[in-house]
Amino acid sequence: MASGLFKKVLIANRGEIALRVICACKDLGIQTVAVYSEADRHSLPVRFADQAICIGPARSARSYLDIPSIISAAEITNVDAIHPGYGFLSENAGFAEVCRVSGIKFIGPDPEVISSMGIKERARAIMKEHGVPILPGSEGVLSSAEEAIGTANRIGYPVILKASAGGGGRGMRVCNSAEELPNLLAQAQNEAGAAFSSADVYLEKYIRAPRHIEFQLLADEHGNVEILGERECSIQRRHQKLLEESPSPALRAEVRKRVETKLKDAIKAIGYSNAGTVEFLMDEKGDLFFIEVNARIQVEHPVTEMVTGVDLVKAQIRIAAGEKLPEILGGKVERRGHAIECRINAENPENFQPSPGRITGFNLPGGIGIRVDTHAHQDGVIPPYYDSLVAKLIAHGRDRDEAIQRMKRALDLFVVEGIHTSIPLHKRILNEKDFVDGNFDTNFITRWT
Ligand code: ADP
Repeated sequence: MASGLFKKVLIANRGEIALRVICACKDLGIQTVAVYSEADRHSLPVRFADQAICIGPARSARSYLDIPSIISAAEITNVDAIHPGYGFLSENAGFAEVCRVSGIKFIGPDPEVISSMGIKERARAIMKEHGVPILPGSEGVLSSAEEAIGTANRIGYPVILKASAGGGGRGMRVCNSAEELPNLLAQAQNEAGAAFSSADVYLEKYIRAPRHIEFQLLADEHGNVEILGERECSIQRRHQKLLEESPSPALRAEVRKRVETKLKDAIKAIGYSNAGTVEFLMDEKGDLFFIEVNARIQVEHPVTEMVTGVDLVKAQIRIAAGEKLPEILGGKVERRGHAIECRINAENPENFQPSPGRITGFNLPGGIGIRVDTHAHQDGVIPPYYDSLVAKLIAHGRDRDEAIQRMKRALDLFVVEGIHTSIPLHKRILNEKDFVDGNFDTNFITRWT
């Protein structure tokens, strides 16, 4: 290991991802500091980190999103670096900047890169400039309803209005005709202004039945970039991913190769470093179009890890410590077999309502080809304040059929009592002929309900 590696890392997150980062640090011989809210006092990250500091009450605004509390915890414990996980402060350029001025390494891209990728219309322009395909749409932010109508008439309806600073599906409107465009534009601008403190909205072609396909990348601080294949995340409900797999059963090898080559150039030119994901939509013809960059580790990263054998979180830490990608990866990255992840959420499978509470009975599946990333345990509590993720169940096989068979077996052996979970929903998905045939798009779940 390079001598410059960190001695101690603070994890500014909770739940399974906090535990995942602790595991990566243990593998690297790095000490860890967990920060926690009062609701997470008895959680596994608190138990397994070397040190733990309470940073505030349950409400995230006063704990996991409270930058001064987190920085104080980092200073008291004298850490070298902070891993933000996903969600919370992971894509907050201001937080990355505060870390920098405090002399603490933020394990992620530079604040300037985070903020330019967070302005979607700008990220879109950068990708276009480097030959990455984007959907036809407006040149930048819309300045008037007339301009929006002119653009939409040129590219054809339907179109989608999107908030440039958007996230979580907010500030988006699908529009079918010129008549309804001015009204929908005003709505999108208002919603964007209220949610993101920027009313900037742009427009692009709307794809009615897209597949969601995203590429995992790693980039070091010396200009080396590696694309680690794609993940298919089309099984969603209300834009929330439920099941992800790698490789995509629908992506043509020639399209994969072309997009990966262009992406590599674009990522290099942006000066991106650390792990990231570039999201695309696939149209009915099988072509890919860029939609956004997620400048952080993703929930679904384990499917890429199973197929490539690369520990992405470990790679993030080593990149942040200044190591070079060829050393970290140790040669050509092979892609082996097929992996699927099911997100086991605490929710009622009938109506998708959250189902927090105490776990009264618990059995984790195991056996060949199965991995479980979880912070849940017997008598543990899933609090109502945060996301409802209980566990990520990942199956790997030589091919897609074997991965599906192993996943079905693991779902049968996975017992969570005391709360409702999405286990029955996943069993149903895996038994659907269209899923097994690889024949689906992002409307797959909507068609059931
Ligand atoms: P957010 O950052 O709010 O999640 P995205 O740009 O990632 O916004 O889009 C979220 C989801 O909205 C996509 O996964 C897709 O389902 C849908 N969507 C976005 N743009 C389009 C489009 N041009 N055509 C069809 N669906 C779209």
